[in-house]
Amino acid sequence: MTTAFAASRFDARSLVREELADLEAYTPIVPFEVLSERLGLPIAQIVKLDANENPYGPAPAVIEALAAYNFYHIYPDPQQTELREALAAYAGVPSEHILPSHGADEMLDSLCRIFLQRGDAIVDCPPTFGMYSFDAQLAGAQVVEVWRNAAYGVDVAAIERAVLASAGRVKLLFLTSPNNPSGTWLPEAELKQLLKLPVMVVLDEAYVEFADHPSRAAWVLRHENLVVLRTFSKAAGIAGLRLGYGICPAWLMAELWKFKQPYNVNVAATVAALASLRDLDYLCATVAKLKTERRRLHDALRAIPYLAPQPSEANFVLCQVSGRSAKAIKQALEQQGILVRYYSKPGLDNCIRISVGRPEQTDRVIEALRAF
Ligand SMILES: *Cc1c(COP(=O)(O)O)cnc(C)c1O
Repeated sequence: MTTAFAASRFDARSLVREELADLEAYTPIVPFEVLSERLGLPIAQIVKLDANENPYGPAPAVIEALAAYNFYHIYPDPQQTELREALAAYAGVPSEHILPSHGADEMLDSLCRIFLQRGDAIVDCPPTFGMYSFDAQLAGAQVVEVWRNAAYGVDVAAIERAVLASAGRVKLLFLTSPNNPSGTWLPEAELKQLLKLPVMVVLDEAYVEFADHPSRAAWVLRHENLVVLRTFSKAAGIAGLRLGYGICPAWLMAELWKFKQPYNVNVAATVAALASLRDLDYLCATVAKLKTERRRLHDALRAIPYLAPQPSEANFVLCQVSGRSAKAIKQALEQQGILVRYYSKPGLDNCIRISVGRPEQTDRVIEALRAF
């Protein structure tokens, strides 16, 4: 059967899963080293406010711990025992409910692959973080979009209708609090109402440290259909090391232990996270500085006539641009070495999102925006 002739006619591409045909590759942002070269500006002069990273980076104690660690040739602990204990103390939930991951992104992907197969669906509430729909489609599921209202709040009644109309096909509901890119907090009564639905609720708290409200991590102890996601990429300033974690009900932990790759979290990320959690004074101090700066950035943006900044509980501010092109603004800023995110899609038409930086970075971006 497998003659040389047949083999030559055979197209290996036909073996790829069908779901991939409909997907587009992630549009990468230009690495800032590349941009620095392109613009002829030293890296130190680039004002990078496009990816919600923490401009202060990790505590000096984190860098010292990474340099002093002697066992990078040894595989990580697959049970992540020490890290899970430290995360438990930080999140206020027993370690039996916590599972670290290679960024919160890995946990999102794991949840999609645990719950979803062809014919299933998720409810997504755009405009929001893009990975939920991406991971769901990759798992073969359909994405039911329930759009946020003009103030970027979720439409609880429409979500309920979408779930009930799906006759059990919707398995996961993705909620984000504070939401990216709007910075909106999800009110307690709405979350309570949505938790009554017969779906798994994935509550993404990537920015919760910056919020003016407390985390819902402990809610997983009372709600069997809730999982809360957190990350070290934003407040803790180690986006490059990739560390997130899921806070899960006990039954879901049992499934995740079967599912997880033994060495999904690397040793450097573990060492850095442990050191970071030992120096919470530093973490709280940088978060406090960024929250103060968020207020200053918001006020300065509000004083610019063509911008309408949204109130934000995260480390970024979304602005509607009127009377000129957000894309042109993004490009003009880029020429000056200032990077922001711009959007031109439904719900985010002609918008820019500016991450909260250091005071001198706020000054640079505000000065440039005023000059237009
Ligand atoms: C940045 C971000 C994440 C990703 O976190 P990683 O831990 O870096 O993978 C998850 N959710 C939201 C809403 C984010 O903005």
